Amino acid sequence: MNAADIAEMQKTYLIPTYAPQLALVKGSGTKVWDAEGNEYLDFLAGIAVLNVGHCHPNVVKAIQDQAATLMHVSNLYYNEKQPQLAKALAEKAGGGKCFFCNSGAEANEGLIKLARLWGSDKGKFKVITMKNSFHGRTLATLTATGQEKVQKGFAPLPEGFAYAEFNNLDSVKAAITEQTAAVLVEAVQGEGGIIPADPEFISGLRALCDEKDILLMFDEVQAGVGRTGKWFSFQHYDVQPDAFSLAKGLGNGFPIGALVAAPKLANIFQPGHHATTFGGTPLACAAALAVLETIEQEKLLENAAAMGELLLNKLQAIAEQYDWIEGARGCGLMVGLVLNDSALPLQKKLQEKGLLTLATAVRVLRMLPPLTVTTEEIEQAVAWIAEACAELDTQ
Ligand SMILES: *Cc1c(COP(=O)(O)O)cnc(C)c1O
Repeated sequence: MNAADIAEMQKTYLIPTYAPQLALVKGSGTKVWDAEGNEYLDFLAGIAVLNVGHCHPNVVKAIQDQAATLMHVSNLYYNEKQPQLAKALAEKAGGGKCFFCNSGAEANEGLIKLARLWGSDKGKFKVITMKNSFHGRTLATLTATGQEKVQKGFAPLPEGFAYAEFNNLDSVKAAITEQTAAVLVEAVQGEGGIIPADPEFISGLRALCDEKDILLMFDEVQAGVGRTGKWFSFQHYDVQPDAFSLAKGLGNGFPIGALVAAPKLANIFQPGHHATTFGGTPLACAAALAVLETIEQEKLLENAAAMGELLLNKLQAIAEQYDWIEGARGCGLMVGLVLNDSALPLQKKLQEKGLLTLATAVRVLRMLPPLTVTTEEIEQAVAWIAEACAELDTQ
């Protein structure tokens, strides 16, 4: 099918929740190709999903082998891949236990339920989240998301949420009541515009939560699994969470989410409290195990840190040349170029040149390349960005 046929058929049969502009048909590493055969550097990576790149041979093989052996059994039975993956994650997290699900929103729902169950006999149920955050699209997680645009039209929203200002500890303090069970935060806001938390904010949250007997939970759905140059983004801050969520990068495109609970919370959920049919299938866990092994074997945490720094420095140099670019910011391979105005024209121009990025929070050009990205690919991308900025400047 050509791109026009695909678009026409989509228009007829798909509920129009998305507005895609490009039909992609093939991927390998950082590269993808569209239905017309044009090649692109994929600096979006399925929104931080393809952490080891498109169709990494280790992940392809793990999925193919597991698919031909045992795909699914139900959680009524053991499947050895599930505890193997849980062990690998718990070791990286500094202890704890896992529950597997299928998406980021579902992992965050799990965190919210866990906090409520933990607090149920103390009368604590409220979860404080940050303004400008993003936690998902289910009813509970869109309520947790501190952005009106995702909540509008879906009232009545579930009860039990309160909002505070990101990077403002006093605002969190002011939101705490006797009923507060947990604080849920992204250490690096992604959808909100690639905004890393201040170290004092995160250490302050940890101390505040300890003092008030409140859980500190991190949403690592976008920033986790090596994206920022550490396994989990909270590891930049020298704190231990009480629980955190994972999804996007965990299966490199095979859907899997996880809730990781520190020892303190590891046995709150008991049989009957929480479940999902597809969570932790042998197939999903095999894909995720291959992802974690590949990140280790190919030293991708180190590469993400080095390539992230390279990209950030080069973007900062570009930003200095134009008064309509405010600057660049990021953490590892979560990088944003912050403009004064909409980033959409720049995103479009870059796509024409062969670079996929995403305009986020209106005026931030978000880049999330695979952790396997090379120096040459960063240099090519930056050359296109420099060209596109020069072209936009003269318009
Ligand atoms: C994408 C995202 C989610 C939602 O994940 P889904 O898999 O789309 O449900 C939640 N939190 C953060 C930080 C995200 O980036």
